[in-house]
Amino acid sequence: MIRVLFAAGAKCWSEYELVLPEALEAKGLTVDLSRDHAPGTVDYIVTAPNGDVQDYRPYRCCKLVQNIWAGVENLTDNPTLTQPLARMVDPGLTRGMVEWVTGHVLRHHLGMDRHILGQDGIWRSEIPPLAADRPVTVLGLGALGSACATTLSDLGFPVRGWARRDKEIPGVEVFSGHDGLDAVLRDAQIVVLLVPLTALTRHLLNAERLALLKRNTIILNPGRGPLIDDGALIAALDSHLGHATLDVFETEPLPADHPFWAHPKVTVTPHIASATRPATAATVIAENIRRGEAGQPFQHLVDRERGY
Ligand code: NDP
Repeated sequence: MIRVLFAAGAKCWSEYELVLPEALEAKGLTVDLSRDHAPGTVDYIVTAPNGDVQDYRPYRCCKLVQNIWAGVENLTDNPTLTQPLARMVDPGLTRGMVEWVTGHVLRHHLGMDRHILGQDGIWRSEIPPLAADRPVTVLGLGALGSACATTLSDLGFPVRGWARRDKEIPGVEVFSGHDGLDAVLRDAQIVVLLVPLTALTRHLLNAERLALLKRNTIILNPGRGPLIDDGALIAALDSHLGHATLDVFETEPLPADHPFWAHPKVTVTPHIASATRPATAATVIAENIRRGEAGQPFQHLVDRERGY
C-alpha cells in the first residue's frame, strides 16, 4: 500500500478529496491517501508552502514532496525539506495564466480604458494599432511564460522572450543573459514578468533596468512581487512608464495604505492571475506517484541550486 500524506491544508483537501482518489486509481495505484499518516510511514507528500507540514525531517522514507503551487520560493528556503521536490505544472493553471495575460495585454493594446472610463461625451476616434505594431516581451519562458508568449504571437504580436537558457519557441525570438535582458527591455511596449523568484531574479526590474524601458511602456507582473523594486517602479511610472498591472506583491494582501492602491498608473489585482485547478492537477500528482513507483524519473523536479 502506497501512503500519501495530503498536507496542503484543509481548504485544498475539501477540493482534492473529490478528484485525487479517482486520478490515482486511473493510474492503477492503490493508495492510502490521508491528511493524517505517521511521518515515518509516508511515501509521498502533497504539499503547499502554507500547508500543514513545515518540518519535513520526520518523513524519512518520503520519495517526493509534490507542491501544488507553481512557485516554490517558500519551500526551497526550508532547510528541513531535503527530499526531492516537484513544482506544479498544471494545464488548468497554465490556461488561466494565458487568459489573464492575454486579457491585460489586450486591455492596454486596444486602449480599452479610454472608452470604459471616459464616457464624457467626447468622440475619441483614435484607431488602435494592430498587434503587429506592438512588441511584447515575456520575461521567463517556462510552463507559463512560453504558453503566454505563444498565444500572444498567434494573435499577431511580435514577441520576444527571455530565459536562462536558449530555446526554440515558434513565433518567439528568444534571448538570454544580461545583454539579452537589456535588448528585450529596450524594444518592448508591453513587458510581462513570469520568471520565478530566486536570488538572481529578486529586483530584476530595478531602477537601472526600468530606465531602459521606452516612454509609455506597460508592465504586467503576474510572477512575484519582489521581481520589481517597488520604489523604483513608482519613480519610473512618475517619470516615463505608461502603466503597471500588478497581481503579486512583496506583502500580500497588499496593505490598504500601500501607494499602489491610489497610484493613477497602477492596476492592482489580488493574486488571481491564475491558480492550480484540482481537476487537472490531480492527474499531474498521480502521474508523478506512478513514476515514483515504476522507478521512472519524476516530472518537474526543482533544481535546488537554481532555486526553481
Ligand atoms: P518555470 O520554472 O516553468 O519557468 C521559469 C522560467 O524563468 C524559465 O524559462 C527559466 O529559464 C526562467 N528563469 C528562471 N531564472 C532565470 C534567470 N535567472 N534568468 C533568466 N531566466 C530565468 O515556471 P512557471 O512558468 O511554471 O511559473 C513562473 C512563475 O509564475 C512561478 O514561479 C510563480 O512565481 C508565478 N505564478 C504566479 C501565479 C499567479 O497567480 N500570479 C500562478 C502561478 C505561478 P529556463 O527556461 O532557461 O530554465
